[in-house]
Amino acid sequence: MDLRPLARGVYACLQPDNGLGTSNSGLIDRGGGLVVDTFWDLPHTRRLIATYERVRRDPVRRVVNTHHNGDHCWGNQLFPGAEIIGHRNCAAAFGRERPEAMQALRSGAGSGDPTLETFARLLADWDFRGIELTPPTTLVDDRLVLDLDGIAVHLLYVGPAHTSGDVVVHLPAEKIVFAGDVLFRLCTPIGWDGTTARWIRALDEIVELAPDVIVPGHGPLCGVEGAREMQAYLRYVESEAKRFHAAGLTPLDAARRLDLGPYATWTEPERVLFQIERVYRELRGEPYDAPLPVNALFRDMITLRRERRGDA
Ligand SMILES: [Zn+2]
Repeated sequence: MDLRPLARGVYACLQPDNGLGTSNSGLIDRGGGLVVDTFWDLPHTRRLIATYERVRRDPVRRVVNTHHNGDHCWGNQLFPGAEIIGHRNCAAAFGRERPEAMQALRSGAGSGDPTLETFARLLADWDFRGIELTPPTTLVDDRLVLDLDGIAVHLLYVGPAHTSGDVVVHLPAEKIVFAGDVLFRLCTPIGWDGTTARWIRALDEIVELAPDVIVPGHGPLCGVEGAREMQAYLRYVESEAKRFHAAGLTPLDAARRLDLGPYATWTEPERVLFQIERVYRELRGEPYDAPLPVNALFRDMITLRRERRGDA
């Protein structure tokens, strides 16, 4: 794990992009300490804590979850006594994904089903045992402003973009934004509840904050060009998906046809299937939070991965 000083008392902890779940976190070492996002399992979160202990010995008083996906909050229980802060919709969606279900998938090797075998391999670095879901109890609606002993921390609601509970953490004086999964950098985004237009708008809202540094939910640090590039990706996939929808293609066939162009080098390109499905959901006139067919999407995504790579 890579600890990066960003400003006086402000750090990012970046995980190398090893695919599914390798998210980033932040530490503000002032005013009792605040951590932005924990990791997907307890072993990785213990390593996160050990990494932060290189610069801060005392336990932090606050944890902010940018949204409810497990790779940003399933380590919350390792911050006992900390105030857990998140958007109201983040707290409401907590538990929609279950650690036991992920552990069962991770243990799926040897099942004989090639999709399950591949999925188990993708999860091999993770251990979801022992996780007790610890949702936010301090809830954000539109915004919450904290003063950490002189560092102003603004929690801003920008959803529903990647999920219905997306919060970004803005440090105006330091010109830093912790974007959560509103921004994926050089890796292919997956979105859940939200619309393409709202996601593009949320990225605009980040750009309008004029940060010097953005810590994305996944991938390396960037500036506003990272947000701009992801907007271009979303616009491109949307226009292509509309064309394929009009031609009657299934999302899987649309993903097979879609030429990713410059985005083909982003990691996990097969995740484009999720974005195509979200566009199709909008074209069907369904609400932004209509459940995605998650199991079928993962199955088709792994099919795509195997087709593209010629391997598992
Ligand atoms: Zn994530």
